[in-house]
Amino acid sequence: MRALRLPNWKSEPELTEVPRPEPGPGQVVIKVGGAGACHSDLHLMHDFEAGAVPWNPPFTLGHENAGWVHALGAGVTGLTEGQPVAVYGPWGCGTCARCRVGVDTYCENPAAAPVPGGGGGLGLDGGMAEYLLVPDARHLVPLPEGLDPVAAAPLTDAGLTPYHAIRRSLPKLLPDSTALVIGVGGLGHVGVQILKATTAARVIAVDTRDDALALAREYGADLTLRPDSDAAERIRAATGSRGADVVLDFVGADATLKLGVSVARTLGDLTIVGLGGGTLPVSFFGVPYEVSIQTVYWGSRPELIEVLDLGARGLIKPKITTFGLDQAVDAYHQLRDGTLEGRAVIVP
Ligand code: NAD
Ligand code: ZN
Ligand code: ZN
Repeated sequence: MRALRLPNWKSEPELTEVPRPEPGPGQVVIKVGGAGACHSDLHLMHDFEAGAVPWNPPFTLGHENAGWVHALGAGVTGLTEGQPVAVYGPWGCGTCARCRVGVDTYCENPAAAPVPGGGGGLGLDGGMAEYLLVPDARHLVPLPEGLDPVAAAPLTDAGLTPYHAIRRSLPKLLPDSTALVIGVGGLGHVGVQILKATTAARVIAVDTRDDALALAREYGADLTLRPDSDAAERIRAATGSRGADVVLDFVGADATLKLGVSVARTLGDLTIVGLGGGTLPVSFFGVPYEVSIQTVYWGSRPELIEVLDLGARGLIKPKITTFGLDQAVDAYHQLRDGTLEGRAVIVP
């Protein structure tokens, strides 16, 4: 079968022929219906070096996957061939305290996981291929009525990651609060929708691109602005000088972290989602009082079920552009060049 593979660190992906996977005991092979192109893949191609993460290329890209059950390994029950499913992407050991509650992201026995800290498309072969081997049937979530694999694929990361970040901060997203979304790309544009669908917070969105800001307005953002020199002042003015109760930084660069902390409200949250490589100096007077600063990685399996429900009910609807496998490299180029709106989904 054909697969888009990352051959090495600091290299472009290549479309190559690889053997079609067969399921072992407890495993499932999925016919891929959609595989999202995440900006993290660009970090894998361009920014990371050996040692940055606990695994190495080569592997097939695509960690945001949905499709149909194709073949069941021995002992797998509760799934049927042809059934549409979303793939929960982080694959932990399955038996530690975190994995048992569906938080494979923070598996406490990574040596016993199929790959430490990753999954399909992150260390192991992912979904940018005709078929995907899922090492344990527990990673599959049946798609609810109303969602097809193309629409579901981005929900497994571009939906799940902002959902997890927002859910952590729900107690601070009361009416008369403000959420600031920095970076309205694949994750951020779903983040705006999740905020609108699940909270009563005012939403302010920041992006360097006018089309991204237009998308944020389309999805209900109350105020959109470019990160110009007056951005902090405008955010403070829009919040009655209080600032943002919750800052979600989907970029994570020096400039966005600086903007975020400069407008965070006392007692607020600053959540760093983007891997932009920035740093944030923390000091007594440098951070507003009692602001919690946190990084987040993906989300939990129960949260994926909740995100799929929001999608199935039409409460969130990622903006998707589809590409064939032979156009996948072009999709990544468009993502890199910032000419893509919402999420690119590869349909093999
Ligand atoms: P994307 O390229 O689709 O979106 C990024 C958006 O940020 C774009 O709209 C871009 O115009 C905007 N942007 C870039 N620089 C900016 C700046 N200085 N100020 C304001 N806006 C700016 O990327 P994506 O797929 O949404 O991923 C976003 C980031 O999140 C990436 O770093 C990715 O690796 C990371 N990520 C993290 C997790 C996690 O679990 N923590 C999961 C998925 C992705
Ligand atoms: Zn991702
Ligand atoms: Zn575990």
